[in-house]
Amino acid sequence: MALIVHKYGGTSMGSTERIKNVAKRVAKWHDAGHQIVVVPSAMSGETNRIIGLAKEIMAQPDPRELDMIASTGEQVSVGLLAMALQAIGKKAVSYAGWQVAIKTDSSYTKARIASIDDAKVKADLDAGKIVIITGFQGVDEQGNITTLGRGGSDTSAVAVAAALKAQECLIYTDVDGVYTTDPRVVSDARRLNTVTFEEMLEMASLGSKVLQIRSVEFAGNYRMPTRVLSSLTDPLMPLEEEAKSGTLISFEEDTHMEQATITGIAFNRDEAKITVLGVPDRPGIAYQILGPVADANIEVDMIIQNQSVEGKTDFTFTVPRGEYQKAMEVLEGSVKAHIGATSIVGDSKVSKVSVVGVGMRSHVGIASQMFRTLSEEGINIQMISTSEIKISVLIDEKYMELAVRSLHKAFGLENS
Ligand code: ADP
Ligand code: ASP
Ligand code: MG
Repeated sequence: MALIVHKYGGTSMGSTERIKNVAKRVAKWHDAGHQIVVVPSAMSGETNRIIGLAKEIMAQPDPRELDMIASTGEQVSVGLLAMALQAIGKKAVSYAGWQVAIKTDSSYTKARIASIDDAKVKADLDAGKIVIITGFQGVDEQGNITTLGRGGSDTSAVAVAAALKAQECLIYTDVDGVYTTDPRVVSDARRLNTVTFEEMLEMASLGSKVLQIRSVEFAGNYRMPTRVLSSLTDPLMPLEEEAKSGTLISFEEDTHMEQATITGIAFNRDEAKITVLGVPDRPGIAYQILGPVADANIEVDMIIQNQSVEGKTDFTFTVPRGEYQKAMEVLEGSVKAHIGATSIVGDSKVSKVSVVGVGMRSHVGIASQMFRTLSEEGINIQMISTSEIKISVLIDEKYMELAVRSLHKAFGLENS
């Protein structure tokens, strides 16, 4: 008997029919003698619908109020799933984040989990109940409801698994594992049986939305075995087969079975680029530009500063597209005059494409192969950033899919 956490995403919970299938699958695991905690997302489209309502009222809704409503989709899901389990004769109980409690900081819309109280959940499990906990939501010290950022139910699930010292966290979704790239963009992308934790961390941070990055961080920090698998298979398929399906995030880098130079291609459509022109080249200038941006809680990603000419330089960086306007306002508002920049220009139609793989450590020439492939397609590279196991380029968004497909082919990642 083991304690196992299941997470079901929006599509997996997308209709009452699908919820009944989730209940059958969960019941199968419970019948096999396991203790099961389920962390579901809102039904697909629901969080978008709720955020859309808020935006009909005001363009920049108050984050506290936004979390108050955005968190409700998950509350509907847990209740429905508890009912679906009860309807097939299982004992099940649902909890909102604050009832557990899943405590977070107060950064509304992107809160971080601080602690999870496991007492109530453990007591229920010991009483033979299946426990269902809302994904995505938590509660701060003052009792306000918070949410963990889009896609945050993955993080709730892995964090709950870590707090309960579960044997494994199973992330059920609408694809049957982690692929070499998004299978919806490259149809012959290949499913990976294992992916190293470091590669998964890079892929998630570089835009592969299959797992929220913080869930991968939790998995790494607590060494929680985490597997991504399909919720769309027959819910009554043999448990032994299901337990081995999908993609396991492995912590054993050296025994990586599929050691290839490149493991996957990630992309992020939601990028924007800002250039501050004619900046005096003196110590402290990067801080004077980026300090106020960070104070506005905007994450900066790629950064380049050009060689200075006659004491002036240009400073370019990228931000998430959703924060582009806010970043421009911060810079135009106080920074530009303060540092004596000539002007600020931006482009919100850029995308980032990255090749990722631990194999890069021991292979040379990956960057040149990547740049050659893009040049053969006539794609201009606007910015480059690298780490030990990834190379990212910023390009015009209209070439993003072409870039992903041609790199996927150039690195031989397709299904053979
Ligand atoms: P859920 O609602 O279950 O959380 P998400 O939509 O958040 O599901 O994540 C699953 C989706 O992630 C897939 O449908 C797929 O389009 C996308 N995706 C992006 N990159 C990858 C990848 N490398 N491997 C698998 N899926 C990926
Ligand atoms: N429902 C939330 C979202 O749509 C959380 C999640 O699905 O993981 O972002
Ligand atoms: Mg998701």
